Amino acid sequence: MTQIYKRVALIGLGLIAGSMALAMRRGGLAGEITGYARSSETRKVAGEIGLVDRVCESAAEAVKGADLVVLCVPVGAMGAVAAEIAPHLQAGATVSDVGSVKRAVIDAVGPHIPKGVHFIPAHPLAGTEKSGPTSGFAELFDGRWCLIVPVEGTDAAATKRLRDLWVGMGAQVDEMEADHHDLVLAVTSHTPHLIAYTMVGVADDLSRVTDTEVVNYSAAGFRDFTRIAASDPTMWRDVFLNNKEATLEILGRFTEELFALQRAIRTGDGDHLHDYFTRTRAIRRGIIEAGQDTDVADFGRVKK
Ligand code: NAP
Repeated sequence: MTQIYKRVALIGLGLIAGSMALAMRRGGLAGEITGYARSSETRKVAGEIGLVDRVCESAAEAVKGADLVVLCVPVGAMGAVAAEIAPHLQAGATVSDVGSVKRAVIDAVGPHIPKGVHFIPAHPLAGTEKSGPTSGFAELFDGRWCLIVPVEGTDAAATKRLRDLWVGMGAQVDEMEADHHDLVLAVTSHTPHLIAYTMVGVADDLSRVTDTEVVNYSAAGFRDFTRIAASDPTMWRDVFLNNKEATLEILGRFTEELFALQRAIRTGDGDHLHDYFTRTRAIRRGIIEAGQDTDVADFGRVKK
């Protein structure tokens, strides 16, 4: 139990903020945790379940006296929230965020940060398709990566403190430059989500033809797509609108590969298909060896 911050303010009280609150409490990392969310309904639920120590009626009230403020709202809302809290930030405090896109957040939030306040963007690579104040859990970040994306002139001691917090919440921490972060995430997260949304959309169109077969007989592949495609629409709309360039770059490459596979199927080029699938299987093995997923059959759904 090592307290790292005296008072942490969480702006936004959904999956990530809720998991942070529970993980901070588990590790005794914060003296007091305050929180604010836009709707009175979310604030009411957060208060009822005791998600944070004090639910506030405004973002300004939540950040007062905080030595760490974490913006846990959708990427598109970060700039407006930063403008709202800026006059109320304590000198020497750190403002961080958990947004899935970094360049756009830095551009939107950075200009509002007052002199004497540290701005240290971050992104925990952990999540689920659930959202809202009851969706968080203390173990979400255990063994997962959190990327810290330092901006120019970032204070080393303040960065180390934030690193220590993430390690205390169970994460492994690395640093990455903002544009590189956005490209890497376009490959590992953003484009796969778009493909899942598309595949489920196609199946939905088809289900009008085949009635309920798509739902009743959905195999593991399709079910995995539906889980991803159940993710929060606001969050993902904002991700694509704010990571345009990198997502379009990766989508272009994806389309080229898809055409190559389409051609292999049409021409009966089994060697091409087999070689391709062998290569992708090795990637899956690498992810399991890195401890980032389980090798239990069917992601653990098959009960022995
Ligand atoms: P979430 O469960 O939907 O929670 C979002 C929270 O933000 C809600 O409490 C919402 O309040 C609040 N909010 C929205 N607009 C606001 C505003 N203008 N002012 C104040 N509060 C506002 O979302 P989440 O999954 O925790 O995602 C939060 C951030 O983490 C996003 O930037 C996302 O990109 C990033 N992230 C998500 C994941 C993931 O897998 N979900 C993983 C890593 C990072 P109401 O409930 O009142 O609307």
